[in-house]
Amino acid sequence: MLEFLFPPACLLCGSALPRGRDCLCPLCAAGMQRTGYHRDPDNALAMRLAGRIPFDRATGHFLYSPEAPVAMLIHDMKYRGMHRVAHELGRLTGEELAAAGWLVGIDVLVPVPLHWIKHMRRGYNQAEELARGIGEGSGLPVERALRAIRGHKSQTRVSREQRAVNVRGIFRPRHPDRLAGRHILLIDDVCTTGATLVAAAETLLAAVPGARISILTLACTV
Ligand SMILES: [Zn+2]
Repeated sequence: MLEFLFPPACLLCGSALPRGRDCLCPLCAAGMQRTGYHRDPDNALAMRLAGRIPFDRATGHFLYSPEAPVAMLIHDMKYRGMHRVAHELGRLTGEELAAAGWLVGIDVLVPVPLHWIKHMRRGYNQAEELARGIGEGSGLPVERALRAIRGHKSQTRVSREQRAVNVRGIFRPRHPDRLAGRHILLIDDVCTTGATLVAAAETLLAAVPGARISILTLACTV
């Protein structure tokens, strides 16, 4: 009834959405700039993480800049309670990476967790919604294998060194034996310095016997 009276509109252009779409029309979804990093093992994200943690492969799917539509969508999914945005962008990402063969060999998706206070305030963890969307688009299972034992301080106005200090030791593993020997794809919304991803990967590598790690972020700066 509500949908009949107020058909859902595309968040970017305002046009009415076809069935099965929650947030973006096909045109706007297709128009968002992809990085193409999954085709380049030595991409900017992989280079940013190289030497800091051992990992199999890394990609960030959409190109992030303050003016990019993906920046507005990430803002909506973080601060306006729009978990559907995260889910839909995740599904798109999962479908495209699965079609490109980039997910072959991955066993499980693990979202970077939020501290429970933040989780409670926000109502959901955007990385977890992303992971669920990616799972829907790719058929891979999601495992909440990490928890945050304290909040990350706001990371926007601190130096790279300070960020690394802020996130050191903030994660703990959950049921690490369940993931033994698996190839884990660590999921987060956006990568800037990579400090949070490095801390999360370090925790998994130390706790999970025989784990292999790859990394996927929804968006990435150049
Ligand atoms: Zn649109």
